[in-house]
Amino acid sequence: MFREFGIPARIEKVTDIDRLAELRTEHSGSNNCYVSVYAFRDEKGSKTDYNSAVVSTIWFDFDENKDVSRCLKDVRKLYNRFCVPRNIIPRIFYTGGRGFQLNIDFPEPLEIPNGMKRESIRDYLLYLKKEYVLSTLDVQCINNSVSCMRRMSNTPYLDKKTKEPTGRYCIQLEIEEMLEYDMNEIISLSMYPRVRIFEYPGEHNIQASKEFLFFICDKIEVPYTPTNSIPYLLTQIHKAGKFDNGYDENIGTVNYLPVRECIYKLIEESIKHGHCGHSENTAIAAELVSAGWKDTNIGFVFQSIFNEEGGDKYGWYNDDGTAGYQIKNIREKAINRYSRDRLVQLKICKNKYCGCGG
Ligand SMILES: [Zn+2]
Repeated sequence: MFREFGIPARIEKVTDIDRLAELRTEHSGSNNCYVSVYAFRDEKGSKTDYNSAVVSTIWFDFDENKDVSRCLKDVRKLYNRFCVPRNIIPRIFYTGGRGFQLNIDFPEPLEIPNGMKRESIRDYLLYLKKEYVLSTLDVQCINNSVSCMRRMSNTPYLDKKTKEPTGRYCIQLEIEEMLEYDMNEIISLSMYPRVRIFEYPGEHNIQASKEFLFFICDKIEVPYTPTNSIPYLLTQIHKAGKFDNGYDENIGTVNYLPVRECIYKLIEESIKHGHCGHSENTAIAAELVSAGWKDTNIGFVFQSIFNEEGGDKYGWYNDDGTAGYQIKNIREKAINRYSRDRLVQLKICKNKYCGCGG
């Protein structure tokens, strides 16, 4: 999993937050710093496979050459008319120049078919632009869809021609600030980077995931009702078309969630060290159950980690290669895979850029 860093030309694929911080330090002050909105899972040769984007957010770029307060009006319009009625909490940024950026984050990445991502995101944004009359919502960015780049938060805004700092930074704003401050007050705020921590609102935005999936269903003529669950909607979307989606077509259902990158890493490291803690074991098992793995295959993972003769005292596998009672427990009690917050808490996810989500 990686993101692209740009100035704004894409100059490096970045897999960890430390490297991103390095690049930011290296370039801020001499270049405008950008990062891809989406993280990607795959490359095609040495090129980014944009269809492998992890769809964990929808990103809005508002831009207006002459009067940036018109962007602020559009942001408020989108917030009041679209977000508020659906209890959606967006993240809002002033770019430091002539625009605003807004994210609507999903509780977890939406595993829509790879072949549909680019078009779905683009068409959804075009639909929202028209529906809510967002005249400053930038069409070029909409067309970039899965491959779009955003200005990095807390980096200086440089004049595009002279490359001289303008004295302003790209900053995140609280919703209250967006609603109550006028443009001059927001510009004053942008004179300094903001060191404070903003809450990541993804978990609140279930309705945002649903609205996007409803939109896709309408587009490909899949029937649904407003009470349908997200896994159900995703299953119907996958069934509706022959898409290059990475799922086994024969299993009949695609309720399974892909194993997240950091869990793969945890498994690899645990096998290397021949050890893994109890919470981590549970994280691995719950993840693999929800990814549709068979019990025996999950048992084998633990056998590979502990590799102890005389069996495993903790119940993850049996000597005959079958799964231990812990795994059966997780399956029987339908224990959910760990949330993103829990993974961060356990330090399985090292940072918020890893893209694990949900
Ligand atoms: Zn992670």
